Amino acid sequence: MDSSTFNSYLQSTGITDKRVLEAFLKVPRTEFVLTKDIYRAYEDIPLPIGEGQTISQPSLVAQMTQELKLKGNEKVLEIGTGSGYQAGLLSHLANKVYTIERISSLANHARLIFKKLGYKNIKVVTGDGTKGLKKYAPYHAIIVTAGARDIPQQLIKQLKKGGRIVIPVGKSPADQILQVGVKRHGELKIYDIEPVKFVPLIGKFGWSK
Ligand code: SAM
Repeated sequence: MDSSTFNSYLQSTGITDKRVLEAFLKVPRTEFVLTKDIYRAYEDIPLPIGEGQTISQPSLVAQMTQELKLKGNEKVLEIGTGSGYQAGLLSHLANKVYTIERISSLANHARLIFKKLGYKNIKVVTGDGTKGLKKYAPYHAIIVTAGARDIPQQLIKQLKKGGRIVIPVGKSPADQILQVGVKRHGELKIYDIEPVKFVPLIGKFGWSK
């Protein structure tokens, strides 16, 4: 599949936000997958990225991105940089992107790709994203791309009034549901979207391994 056929495919899966579809045309997924998998970069499948981690299937990345309802002027926090693909998309959709990765080799690799592609509005932080990133809070939107036990309170605190959080939550990796939370009057109104399967969110306010 070439990138424009891929875009029509994403529309067929329910992606209607034109800015999200445009971002998918701009960000080359080929740069974010392992060399051996480049020929599969535009298939709608998760792929390995090293260190036992994965890049999610594009239709799910698109859906999670669309749920953030970004207009372009936002400050966004991503937990789970992984390959950097999601952050690359966000860099076209928001004003500033902060992304946290606990595995330093993945964080370093993502930094190199962002430099190569000229993405200047992304800051990669190596660390435990379950604590959020207080230094730059509050955020208009937070996206968590690893499976959480529950929604960490630190993340809710660091979300702006009216802000949105998109996060997979579940008691076990086999029992995760994608949730969207909207912060109103200091509290989070939560909506269930669909069952998903993500690697675990490991950290102080996540899983222990
Ligand atoms: N968004 C990524 C992309 O576009 O390639 C895919 C993320 S991958 C499914 C999940 C990532 O979350 C892994 O790289 C993993 O190391 C990371 N992760 C897990 N727990 C974390 C934590 N507490 N803080 C930061 N990163 C974490």
